[in-house]
Amino acid sequence: TLPNGLTPEAARERAARAYELDRKHVFHSWSAQKSLHPMVITAAQGCHVWDGDGNRLLDFSSQMVNTNIGHQHPKVVAAIQEQAATLCTVSPGYVNDARSEAARLIAEHTPGELNRIFFTNGGADAVEHAVRMARLHTGRYKVLARYRSYHGGTETAVNLTGDPRRWPNDHGNAGVVHFFGPFLYRSQFHATTEVEETERALQHLEQTIAFEGPSTIAAIILESVPGTAGIMVPPPGYLAGVRALCDKYDIVMIADEVMAGFGRTGKWFAIDHFEVAPDLLTFAKGVNSGYVPLGGVAIAPHIAATFDDRAYPGGLTYSGHPLATAAAVATINAMREEGIVENAADMGERVLGPGLRELADRHPSVGEVRGLGVFWAVELVRDRATREPLAPYGGTSPAMTETVAAAKAAGLLLFVNFNRLHVVPPCTITEAEAKEGLAILDQALTVADGHTV
Ligand code: PLP
Repeated sequence: TLPNGLTPEAARERAARAYELDRKHVFHSWSAQKSLHPMVITAAQGCHVWDGDGNRLLDFSSQMVNTNIGHQHPKVVAAIQEQAATLCTVSPGYVNDARSEAARLIAEHTPGELNRIFFTNGGADAVEHAVRMARLHTGRYKVLARYRSYHGGTETAVNLTGDPRRWPNDHGNAGVVHFFGPFLYRSQFHATTEVEETERALQHLEQTIAFEGPSTIAAIILESVPGTAGIMVPPPGYLAGVRALCDKYDIVMIADEVMAGFGRTGKWFAIDHFEVAPDLLTFAKGVNSGYVPLGGVAIAPHIAATFDDRAYPGGLTYSGHPLATAAAVATINAMREEGIVENAADMGERVLGPGLRELADRHPSVGEVRGLGVFWAVELVRDRATREPLAPYGGTSPAMTETVAAAKAAGLLLFVNFNRLHVVPPCTITEAEAKEGLAILDQALTVADGHTV
């Protein structure tokens, strides 16, 4: 039987019906509907999921890079069940103990003095509200955001996004100006060292501020470690440099930690690696491992004070929903009790980092591996010398599709974006599971190697 108690036969029957209904009635996100063949997942446990045919796969995608605590963690499942039995829902204007406790725990881990928490339903609306807060606080409108970034699918968030998903949604007047961040492997600044890349990226940002007019800029938003766009760990000094520019020009610094937060990088927040505190920090995903939709904004006191005597014009029916915040309380407590953040750091340092670098040495299709904790990108290239990617920016290629299919056929799910495979398992991954996944990846990369020059 599967972890959900079904026999493989019953699970197969149920999966077939779910698939049929899905194809008839479900409209999928970010997809052309007709050519889609989505996979059915019938059960999940820890780092594994089961497909419609009863096959067990190692989940190195953490779904949408959000099941940081693994699937079906018993303490979180129990907390949701208990909360459901007590109080399923309450409007955000009332106090409830799950929300109060979740806010306390989150504030305990956020950097600096970000001690006030505004809850949302997910990451995109957290970004919307962070930007709204910055605009009202400064009285300015423009927001600077990075190319090669993802901030969500709603109106402002998708306009801030520096990837091709923005393009069909861009209405051109959202008050967003994009800039290049540091990314030495594909440097926009013709840099050859991290020090040069950092200096030039900061000069470029200051020039952008100067040309846009500092007094017109409300905020700079950036992922502390950009995730979907390629897990480009910023070089030392970059985020501190951004902080200094924000201070110099009175611009609000927003760190988007929706993907990188809650243990993924081996610290509670990715920005903790750089000892920088933003003015606003957005979170979602890992806050409760995605068991119930939840996101939010952690707010520094000087921004919160803007709304001491003036109403904050924004809210959501489900802000701080009891089921979601009870799941957050249980997730954060389990992370503390079980040393899950420390495990992510350890797996990154001892197993995933060295293992992936070793694969990069042996496979000509690997241009670069980079990351930290359980947050790694494997950048695939057709030609190591020219760094020509294995799929074009914004697109896919038969080489990528075949490589990903080979990994899946051998029992490994990966997060894939353009020419990159992202190795982003739950923070709870064991050494044996990490090694098993690396061995499957090793095999799959031979397919990619076959497409190199
Ligand atoms: N910000 C970042 C950095 C993200 O990675 C994502 C989602 O991947 C979002 C925002 C949007 O979050 P959501 O999909 O929960 O709206």
